[in-house]
Amino acid sequence: MGQITLQGVQKAFGPVHIIKGADLDIADGSFVVFVGPSGCGKTTLLRLIAGLEDVTDGKILIDGKNVVAVPPAKRGLSMVFQSYALYPHMSVRGNIAFGLKMAGLPKDEINRKVEAAAATLNLTPYLDRKPRELSGGQRQRVAIGRAIVREPKAFLFDEPLSNLDAALRVQMRLEVTRLQKQLATTAIYVTHDQVEAMTMADKIVVLNAGKIEQYGSPIELYQKPANLFVAGFIGSPKMNFITGDVAAQHGAATIGVRPEHFHIDGGGQGWSGKVMVAEHLGSDTFLYVDAGPVGTLTARCEGEKGVKAGDQVTLVPDPNRIYRFDASGNAIFA
Ligand code: ATP
Repeated sequence: MGQITLQGVQKAFGPVHIIKGADLDIADGSFVVFVGPSGCGKTTLLRLIAGLEDVTDGKILIDGKNVVAVPPAKRGLSMVFQSYALYPHMSVRGNIAFGLKMAGLPKDEINRKVEAAAATLNLTPYLDRKPRELSGGQRQRVAIGRAIVREPKAFLFDEPLSNLDAALRVQMRLEVTRLQKQLATTAIYVTHDQVEAMTMADKIVVLNAGKIEQYGSPIELYQKPANLFVAGFIGSPKMNFITGDVAAQHGAATIGVRPEHFHIDGGGQGWSGKVMVAEHLGSDTFLYVDAGPVGTLTARCEGEKGVKAGDQVTLVPDPNRIYRFDASGNAIFA
């Protein structure tokens, strides 16, 4: 079991309040991603759950038991760091086995567990190598292997893929997701990358300046962002925001339109302007359009539509996909 509940969790470093009262229910077996801009408190929240930091106030329950006074090693959680934190002088086998040896498990049981984890992670051929003889992706798999063999109640991942190049990140992202589903062990995963959050999570926690802005499935956050912050953070390229008279006509202080919800030169009312930049990605083209009084708008169109910089276009928003926000930035749902 690995059900984790936060109740009114606060953390201050001296006079600075970093986590301002977090309430969260993480279901057993789910994959939850903490996402938010740099410095918003993601790592701090993870470290509080791990027990590497003490809470200033509030409760952290693991399977119903408040663990705030329980030391990290006794919480039954395994952490995987960005830096891998492998022992350079030990082989892959030694690294994966280390925690089990420290716990005094019998040798044959350790071997069985290490070999099973290595097989799951495609590390069997590398068991006798040292970390320096491995690629970054393989090293991160060793770190994950070390976490798996302890059979924790939950995995805590702190930006584990940040040191990898773009292609390897995508591959490892799939591997971590597949592995978590296979093991059905609760996972909490910290990243600042909203694409990673959207693709990996069952549920996402969007953090901003130490506050949980929204907690929901990726599609809920995309379709029903609670406020301007979440609306702007989830989705790539970012949602366009328009204020002033145009928004007032919709009964809002701000309206939002996602780049993928514009029809280019379609029928209906829209905004016209000159394409300043066209980014051709092959599958899609992103247009940055100078739409005069409403500012610069970003629109996505089909990659092979042939629109280029200098063209004059009209962007017509899908009337059913216009997001509305009040003066405080909270979403107005119809
Ligand atoms: P990043 O994506 O950049 O890693 P983050 O969201 O994980 O950011 P945290 O590392 O949790 O952010 O830090 C949140 C804030 O708390 C930052 O302003 C940081 O400077 C501050 N902070 C973190 N640890 C300490 C500490 N031990 N003492 C004082 N301030 C700290």
